[in-house]
Amino acid sequence: MRPAPLFPLFSGLETLAGVGAATVKTLTRLIGGGRIVDLLWHLPTGLIDRSTTPSIAEARPHAMATLTVRVVEHGPPRSRRQPWRILCEDASGEIILVFFNARGDWLTKVLPPGEVRVVSGMVEAYGEALQMVHPDYIVEPAAAAETLSGMEPVYPMTAGLAPKLLLKALHAAIERAPALDEWLDPALRQRNCWPSWRDALATVHAPASEADLAPTAPARARLAYDELLANQLALAVVRRRWRRQPGRATRAEGKMAKRVLERLTFTLTVSQDQALAEITADMAQPARMLRLLQGDVGSGKTVVALLAMLHAVEAGAQAALMAPTELLARQHLATIGKLAEAAGVRTQLLTGREKEGARRATIEGVAAGEIGIVVGTHALLQDSVTFRDLALAVIDEQHRFGVDQRLALASKGERTDVLVMSATPIPRTLTLTAYGDLDVSRLTEKPPGRRPVDTRVLPVDRLEEVTVALGRMLASGAKAYWVCPLVEESETLDLAAAQARHASLAANFPGRVGLVHGRMKTAERDAAMRAFRDGPASVLVATTVIEVGVDVPAATVMVIEHAERFGLAQLHQLRGRVGRSAAASTCILLYAPPIGEAARARLAVLRQTDDGFRIAEEDLRLRGAGDLLGVKQSGLPAFRLADLAVHADLLATAADDARLILERDPELTAERGRALRTLLYLFERDAAIRTLRAG
Ligand code: ADP
Ligand code: MG
Repeated sequence: MRPAPLFPLFSGLETLAGVGAATVKTLTRLIGGGRIVDLLWHLPTGLIDRSTTPSIAEARPHAMATLTVRVVEHGPPRSRRQPWRILCEDASGEIILVFFNARGDWLTKVLPPGEVRVVSGMVEAYGEALQMVHPDYIVEPAAAAETLSGMEPVYPMTAGLAPKLLLKALHAAIERAPALDEWLDPALRQRNCWPSWRDALATVHAPASEADLAPTAPARARLAYDELLANQLALAVVRRRWRRQPGRATRAEGKMAKRVLERLTFTLTVSQDQALAEITADMAQPARMLRLLQGDVGSGKTVVALLAMLHAVEAGAQAALMAPTELLARQHLATIGKLAEAAGVRTQLLTGREKEGARRATIEGVAAGEIGIVVGTHALLQDSVTFRDLALAVIDEQHRFGVDQRLALASKGERTDVLVMSATPIPRTLTLTAYGDLDVSRLTEKPPGRRPVDTRVLPVDRLEEVTVALGRMLASGAKAYWVCPLVEESETLDLAAAQARHASLAANFPGRVGLVHGRMKTAERDAAMRAFRDGPASVLVATTVIEVGVDVPAATVMVIEHAERFGLAQLHQLRGRVGRSAAASTCILLYAPPIGEAARARLAVLRQTDDGFRIAEEDLRLRGAGDLLGVKQSGLPAFRLADLAVHADLLATAADDARLILERDPELTAERGRALRTLLYLFERDAAIRTLRAG
């Protein structure tokens, strides 16, 4: 149950005085939620000085101004689509006030011809003339001094919402915010000069200067810290419970692993060796393992996972590997199946798409312990799937599983160790927010023999040259991916672009161009992928649906259209589809000029490096964590108040803080502990509180 003092924060916006149904609807769209707490976390991004009162002649386009004008005449629209225009003047010149979809009677009332009014808003140039579209304020001169005095916060706005209305709603919301018992360490607060929670809230919504808008300003930093602490504390609670459960000591000599290593055509890289040593050491400990194996696409995680799973089997138990899609599960099985068999271990696939008989046989084999390693999708989580003895659960997560699912597979065994694999080389700071303080092994090198992908950045008007060059490469036996842009608002346009490109390439290379996109049925898509991998297609046009883990080593060319629209991490992932063999690979990033500074910088980073971890750090620096493309679908928490590009040090402090808190007060029952429970509820980390209870 949510603590009572928080009730006012979680009630609907419609409970605020003066906020009607229409405003609620617009506000909800703007702030991404319909509750008062959502509104309070909608922070200002700027300041307007309403006290800037130039004459009309002094007013500059694209600047805020408060003008004292005499209304000259109204120009009602001649058609519905035209705006209502009102000519105003002062001694120095003229300006036109513009209103779309406005009611004439209301306008005549607030701006009567012949009268003087004070209007405040954004001045714009309209040809030679000046205009102000929908002034933020229209007041009588006598009321101007009070209404338009000094600094006013500016919020990210949405069309159809007057700033006045938002400010009014916010004032009412802040009024509602209760004083809450302090959950922060007093020393920490003092050291940083942080205000109390309630004061911080009031302060961030009443900035007095640009400095107050900085994410490092004390009030903002405090709120950011609260959010990060809630995140870290929630993860620490789950983690602590996990650690306190008895584990099992899975020990093996490594005979099976050795047999597989002998069959491999390569030797492990130093970081693969080290990761495997870390994993098997954890497995041998009686404590429960929860380890993240992080490494770029193609860095060789699957082999490491296989060797770890063989350890479990050699110790007399079983292992399972869960992948986010059927395609990936199949691919994993193809990689490890034969190798495992060489070690005398039976493997099977379980994805929910097998024929009933095969499915039943697999389930029985797993239950009886005859199948040592089972690879599958979330079909593995079905109740009908039981293990004789599951010692190791490997989750190839590619960020698509939630925390619960990660642990659900492990709950199929007794004291099962868990290894999570992630192909997104996210920066350390983000690892901390997504997984908390868990053990990490990183594969930092590429397998030897890989050549760096020759990456070129070209404007799209050189498309024809690119097509000719592609023709040459295809003639010498190359396979190429051609990725079409993501059109943000429209999946239909997205698809249309890919279809058009497919058609034009197919005209150039008849019979050799395939197409995959998100609207295809799985079977169709698999067929198209297969035609690309095994022939006859040598070009695969794709929207960004190309699976993260798809492995077609023969593919050596990647063309990405409108590369400027993709995030760095995504471009890196896409480029990772090529450069998977000893043959030289090429990546062509086509952009449509003109492009902004940030996009230019992103493309430059890609040309300079193929180190996923470095690229991820750059991405975080360039865009901020909230904007990292793919964060939404990645399962990484999206923060409202914290910005990891700025608050990374606060995150580290919060991680330490959370650990200390639970060491001293594991059940959060002391005075500060109870305040911290409120903090968890405030940021809706209720699941962690249930864990506390259950544990
Ligand atoms: P990931 O799962 O990290 O994306 P994979 O495990 O699928 O990468 O490995 C990609 C390819 O590299 C596979 O074909 C694998 O056999 C090969 N590979 C793995 N480790 C090495 C190594 N040490 N040397 C050479 N090739 C390797
Ligand atoms: Mg893989």
